[in-house]
Amino acid sequence: HDPPQGDGQFLEDESTKSYARKVADHYSARSNQTLEEREASPIIHLKKLNNWIKSVLIQLHTRRGDAVLDLACGKGGDLIKWDKAKIGYYVGIDIAEGSIKDCRRRYNGDTDGHQRRKKFTFPARLICGDCYEVRLDKVLADDAPFDICSCQFALHYSWSTETRARKALANVSALLRPGGFFIGTMPDANVLIKKLREAEGLTFGNSVYWVRFDEEFSSKKFKSSSPFGIKYTFHLEDAVDCPEWIVPFHIFKSLAEEYDFELVFAKNSHEFVHEQMKKPDFLELLRRLGALGDGNQDQGTLSPDEWEVAYLYMTFVLRKRGQSDKT
Ligand code: SAM
Repeated sequence: HDPPQGDGQFLEDESTKSYARKVADHYSARSNQTLEEREASPIIHLKKLNNWIKSVLIQLHTRRGDAVLDLACGKGGDLIKWDKAKIGYYVGIDIAEGSIKDCRRRYNGDTDGHQRRKKFTFPARLICGDCYEVRLDKVLADDAPFDICSCQFALHYSWSTETRARKALANVSALLRPGGFFIGTMPDANVLIKKLREAEGLTFGNSVYWVRFDEEFSSKKFKSSSPFGIKYTFHLEDAVDCPEWIVPFHIFKSLAEEYDFELVFAKNSHEFVHEQMKKPDFLELLRRLGALGDGNQDQGTLSPDEWEVAYLYMTFVLRKRGQSDKT
């Protein structure tokens, strides 16, 4: 065991671990909803929109037979999307034991009150672990290289310290083949900071969410603070109640370059939605998922408050440098 390097380091380490535990416990405790409960959620259309965004990202970057690494895979909500993309292999990792258990159940076709579905066609490995702490190149030495790595609504949990943010990128970089894609969604720091600047105090939100920054990050002090560990609490009705961290995008981009990634694109979710909706197939999928409602009064549609939550997020695609050996 290495001795702690001074009190500061030790304390930072302990609190980082306890925050990671808090995040894990929060997600672990979220039980599986029945179909009825899900449909009654105040953010049901936002959930459907987010599923559509992830489906589009997956369809745009996946090829038949791809080996996929799903960082922070949660309960396996994206398994069906990967199945539709006809992938060849899937590894999912999440820090929350409860979520990995649900994911395993879902993969094994356990219905849990939901409609029975056919078994997935691809083999999978599901692991419980901290993706931003553990050296995944060691754990997954026999599974690599991967063609695609996906980290959906979770990369920001790595920005509590520089060490963790670097570990996240180092892990993905070590496991992706040259030319492989790193796709994801995460909060849009520019939007969060803009909203904080416009807010009266340190809190802002609407009927379905609120964000509260820690006192030490009052907007005036922002410029001088380190780009890591900028913590806020995020509450989203029927979904999230967690400590989270700002990911300043320009810093993320240059850090990613250090780990051999080039930026393919990064866009706020509003822009991504507007752009991809222009494609007839994706518009049809958006309708089919019910994100817009179907004009039927019962089903409703995405509310302005839900649409504002979508604006808090961005999508990104990075490409691992180097010549692809795949044709
Ligand atoms: N990617 C899934 C999806 O899109 O449905 C889950 C998204 S959920 C908002 C965030 C997930 O990140 C949770 O399942 C949580 O347990 C996971 N997570 C947070 N910190 C993590 C870490 N350090 N290592 C692995 N998973 C983590």
